[in-house]
Amino acid sequence: MPALNATHDSNLKSWIATANAEGCSFPIQNLPFGVFSTADRSAPRIGVAIGDRILDLAVIEEAGLVRPRDGSPVFASSSLNSFMGLGPAIWSRTRARLSALLATGNAELRDSEVLRSKALISQSTAVLHLPIDVRGYTDFYASKEHATNVGRMFRDPDNALLPNWLHIPIAYNGRASTVVVSGTPVRRPLGQIKLPGTDAPVLASSRKLDFELEIGAIVGTASPMGRPLTMSNAEAAIFGYVLLNDWSARDIQQWEYVPLGPFQSKAFATSISPWVVTAEALQPFRVAGPKQVPEPLPYLRQSQPNNYDIQLEVTLEPEHHDARATTICRTNFKDMYWSSAQQLAHHALCGCAMQVGDLLGSGTISGADPASYGSMLELSWNGSRPIHLAGGGERCFLEDGDEIAISGWSQGDGFRIGFGEVRSRVLPAHPV
Ligand code: MN
Repeated sequence: MPALNATHDSNLKSWIATANAEGCSFPIQNLPFGVFSTADRSAPRIGVAIGDRILDLAVIEEAGLVRPRDGSPVFASSSLNSFMGLGPAIWSRTRARLSALLATGNAELRDSEVLRSKALISQSTAVLHLPIDVRGYTDFYASKEHATNVGRMFRDPDNALLPNWLHIPIAYNGRASTVVVSGTPVRRPLGQIKLPGTDAPVLASSRKLDFELEIGAIVGTASPMGRPLTMSNAEAAIFGYVLLNDWSARDIQQWEYVPLGPFQSKAFATSISPWVVTAEALQPFRVAGPKQVPEPLPYLRQSQPNNYDIQLEVTLEPEHHDARATTICRTNFKDMYWSSAQQLAHHALCGCAMQVGDLLGSGTISGADPASYGSMLELSWNGSRPIHLAGGGERCFLEDGDEIAISGWSQGDGFRIGFGEVRSRVLPAHPV
C-alpha cells in the first residue's frame, strides 16, 4: 500500500486560491483524474481537478512540465487507460509532480502567463466525459445490511442471508456497454414483469425503477488469464474510485433473477462520476472494515485496513419547476463487509484475466440505520413505506423526470477529498 507522503500533508496549499477554500472538493491533496473537452477544443484529453479549475495535462505534458513516460505523450487521450497501464510507480510519481507544480511557492507554471492561461480551464466551461474505456463491469454485493434487507424482502425473512454470502464476495457480470458518465439521462427499461396474482408475465415498462448507491473501483493493472492475484497485488492494482449508480428495475429483477442472478434488470444503465479519485489520495482515510466471522479463506485474508471512510449522500429531485431536492440517504463506505481488494482477489482467483479499465461496483452501500439504506427498494421497503419529499409528494420508486444525485467525500484535517457527484435524470420508457 502506498505510504503517506508529501502529497498528503494537510498544510499543503495551492497557488490556485479556490483550491484552498473551506469545503472545496478538489484541494491540492485530492488531484482526481478525468477526461474533458472544451468548446474551443473538442478533442477529449486528460486533466486533474484543482479548485474550480481543470489542469489540462495534455498541455503541460507538451510543454515538458510533466512526463509520465519517454516517447509518445499519454495525456492527449480520450480515456485514462493508457496512463493507468503505466503502473502504480508512475501513478505515484505523476501525482507527486502535479502536487509540486500546483503548490504555493512553485513558479514553473504559476509565473508563465501564456502557458497558465492555456493549461487552466474553468470547470464550468468544460464538458466532462466518461473517464475510462470500461472493459468489463462486475457488480458485487458487499454490504451485509443490504444483502440481508433484500433477502428479507425477496425470499425468506428468517434466512435472509444465504449461507455462501459470508464466504464469497458475491457478484454478477454486468454490462460495460451501458456504463455512462454523470449527466447522461437514463431511459426507464422495458422488460418481462409478472404482476402479483397472475400466472404469466407481461411486456411492460418497469414500475419499480430504482437507484443503487455504490462506489466503483477501477482496475489499473492487468493480470493474465490463468493467474490468481494475491490480496496485496489486488490492492495495488486498483487505480482509483468513482461514485456509481447501479440503476435497477426491481419488478424485472424479481421475475428473472433465479437461478442466474440479475440480467435485464441491471443491464440498461450504470452511471459513474467523472473524476477518478486515486487510491493514493485516499490513503489517509483507510480504516478497518467490520470483523469478518467466519474468517475468510486464506486468499481473502487482509493484513491491513482496506476499507475507506467515505461519507455519502443521495438526493432525489422531481422535475417540476418548483421542485426541491430531498436528501433521502446518508451513509458511509467504511462499513462494507467485503473490501474492493478482496473483491478483486476473488474475481481473479479462478484465473479470470483482469484488464486495465475493468470496473468493480461495490454493491449497494446500506448501513444499519434505515436512513442509511442505499436504494429505494430498502428505503420504501419494497413500496410499503413511502418516502416523503421536501417539496410535497412521496415516492416508493422513481418516476419519470426524477433526478438522482450521489455525492461523496472523505473529511480530512482542514481539507476534504471530494468525489464530486453522479447525477442523472429518468426519461420515460420507449413505447412498447
Ligand atoms: Mn448493484
